[in-house]
Amino acid sequence: MASKTPVGFIGLGNMGNPMAKNLMKHGYPLIIYDVFPDACKEFQDAGEQVVSSPADVAEKADRIITMLPTSINAIEAYSGANGILKKVKKGSLLIDSSTIDPAISKELAKEAEKMGAVFMDAPVSGGVGAARSGNLTFMVGGVEDEFAAAQELLGCMGSNVVYCGAVGTGQAAKICNNMLLAISMIGTAETMNLGIRLGLDPKLLAKILNMSSGRCWSSDSYNPVPGVMDGVPSANNYQGGFGTTLMAKDLGLAQDSATSTKSPILLGSQAHQIYRMMCAKGYSKKDFSSVFQFLREEETF
Ligand code: NAD
Repeated sequence: MASKTPVGFIGLGNMGNPMAKNLMKHGYPLIIYDVFPDACKEFQDAGEQVVSSPADVAEKADRIITMLPTSINAIEAYSGANGILKKVKKGSLLIDSSTIDPAISKELAKEAEKMGAVFMDAPVSGGVGAARSGNLTFMVGGVEDEFAAAQELLGCMGSNVVYCGAVGTGQAAKICNNMLLAISMIGTAETMNLGIRLGLDPKLLAKILNMSSGRCWSSDSYNPVPGVMDGVPSANNYQGGFGTTLMAKDLGLAQDSATSTKSPILLGSQAHQIYRMMCAKGYSKKDFSSVFQFLREEETF
């Protein structure tokens, strides 16, 4: 394999860890940074270079991927005192795969442009399983001329890399998808709970829904009721998967976007409140399908 230039990777958490490993499998040497040093250890042991700030990553790599929890973390990693933009090289390609506010993506793109670099937003859908198997979907926003360069790296981590338009449109697509996912998960949980209360066997009810018009991803691929499916968080006490805190964060982004565009999101707002309540009641680290358990525990009202 021809030698490849190093790629910077910042944020080696649940998603960033397997994504970075897929870049390694494709022969890219990595320059690694995470604010939590333990997250870098595995990569250091594998011979990758670990540095001590995002600025140091930018000094050593002219293609950088960031995979961070929230808008605040992204601002810190790009524009902070030791951020990427402090030492970014002209012509660098900066790809942010975190799910953040599209307005922040646009702001970071402007700041990057002032430094002669290109910033693209490329949030993902697919979860930890798809990150491991290299089957993520990337929704990419930014200058179209740079899409092919981004695709070269993103194609190592995902099976679908979709160009959405100007910077921020990747985040827009991601926020819309997750709002629908949150609503359909709550709907599935309510429906399954009602059916069980009416005396139906949960597996049978899921089977009927999945051959009928109520079918959706939450019912047929990620059923929230323990015992209905194997290999999903509901089969493992809602461990792993997509955290309730992250879903509440994404619904907050949908809420902000709905306010700024004057769009009615009646069910999206309701879903936001439900996931916020769950965070306050001890579900924050559980997978978001634990809304089924939450409803069961709240059923006295
Ligand atoms: P995570 O919390 O597991 O990992 C984030 C990593 O970023 C952590 O290791 C943390 O130490 C590091 N970090 C935080 N601030 C930093 C900073 N300023 N500089 C360097 N490192 C920093 O989160 P995750 O589950 O990997 O999610 C990352 C993003 O992907 C989120 O925006 C999330 O909404 C999105 N996402 C997650 C999933 C999922 O299933 N987990 C699916 C799709 C999208």
